[in-house]
Amino acid sequence: MSDKDRVVIVGAGIVGSSLAKYLSLLHVPVTLLDRSLSTTLPDSTGLPPGFVGHVNELPTLTELAKRSVEDYKNIPVGFKSEGSRHRLDLANKYGLPARFRGKRHGGSIRLFVKRDVLAALLFENDGTAAAPTIALYDRSVASSLGARMVEGDVKELVIEHGRVIGVKTTADFIPANRVIVTTGIWTRQLLPDLPVHPVGHPYSHSAERPPRQKSSPFVRWPENHVYGRDHGTYDGIGSYDHPAVSVDASELRGFDDVLRKAYDHCPPTASGEGGVDWKDAKPFNGLFSMTPDNLPFVGRVHGDDRDPSSGVWCAVAVWVTSAGGVAQLLAKAMVEGEEGMTEVERGMLRDLDPRRFEGQDQGALKATSLRAYNNIYNSDD
Ligand SMILES: Cc1cc2nc3c(=O)[nH]c(=O)nc-3n(C[C@H](O)[C@H](O)[C@H](O)COP(=O)(O)OP(=O)(O)OC[C@H]3O[C@@H](n4cnc5c(N)ncnc54)[C@H](O)[C@@H]3O)c2cc1C
Repeated sequence: MSDKDRVVIVGAGIVGSSLAKYLSLLHVPVTLLDRSLSTTLPDSTGLPPGFVGHVNELPTLTELAKRSVEDYKNIPVGFKSEGSRHRLDLANKYGLPARFRGKRHGGSIRLFVKRDVLAALLFENDGTAAAPTIALYDRSVASSLGARMVEGDVKELVIEHGRVIGVKTTADFIPANRVIVTTGIWTRQLLPDLPVHPVGHPYSHSAERPPRQKSSPFVRWPENHVYGRDHGTYDGIGSYDHPAVSVDASELRGFDDVLRKAYDHCPPTASGEGGVDWKDAKPFNGLFSMTPDNLPFVGRVHGDDRDPSSGVWCAVAVWVTSAGGVAQLLAKAMVEGEEGMTEVERGMLRDLDPRRFEGQDQGALKATSLRAYNNIYNSDD
């Protein structure tokens, strides 16, 4: 086997690491390349609260979430079921188990919320994924199957006569017939025509506190675009209650006011166990990718559609919620082609096709992507 037969994956966050695992399991030789292979995962995968909600108006996202959770449950401490407060009708529509719990129904539920909760909708399969743990685990499986891990900053995908022949890093040229871009918010540096738009998103950690006797489930206040998570020894809160801030259009602004409003949803520590201290909170601005239809881009970007052993592919704008399912799907598509896929999988790949917006006005696509920011959790309806 020559070096060019190795698939080069650029980006070793949860998506690239999971792809390295699934391709290696299918006996495809892989090189996983990243600016940093540090175990602290410097980019999006190192930060998120990792909420995985199954129900989405887009059936492809619901299916990807189901597949991802199946994957994460096989990884030690990769996934914790927590339930979430959300909408019953959509769940029933997709045949997902959901039920009411609360005082009226004889049960009890402890939430770190300020208001009286009469009833809450518990999705038993929803939960939180430990994204860094999953990424590191997947890297170790891939390594044990022969995948190479290489540090390098890719500056260019090298295309000759319509075919990719490798990638250029600041230090080297790495030959490859197939390159997969999994660079998250950095995607447009390598694929400038893909409408992937990074936006700023505020999240804050409370002061440390002793663990609660019973940890609170992940909570959403959809009508206020706010969500919160019990992280064990501190709480986290995030808010979509602000206009989308595109990072390439303007400087990231401070989100202090947005978070101050979000803090108000939790009871203060003075009110006893379950209270939250936001006085010494550690807020930070995260970045994640928006697309015009809220779906990731997964599949071939460039090259001969009849030849799955060549070309430029991508899996970008993928949330933790979908990463395991996306990696499994793409690995299968690259190895088995159309014929090996089920009808459902072929439909998903059509929905996720990176070329679905080709030829459309970039400005209009960006405006549509940013509008979707406040409806990430389908909370408009
Ligand atoms: C505050 C916040 C809250 C979030 N909450 C949730 C949530 O609750 N649920 C959920 O599902 N998702 C959530 N997300 C989104 C989720 O974190 C991301 O979608 C996911 O981690 C993306 O993974 P990735 O592997 O695509 O990207 P990343 O983790 O960003 O990995 C990309 C990698 O590519 C590398 N790279 C980039 N360019 C190059 C290059 N040119 N050469 C070499 N390497 C390169 C980077 O170093 C990086 O390691 C949240 C994100 C943020 C920021």
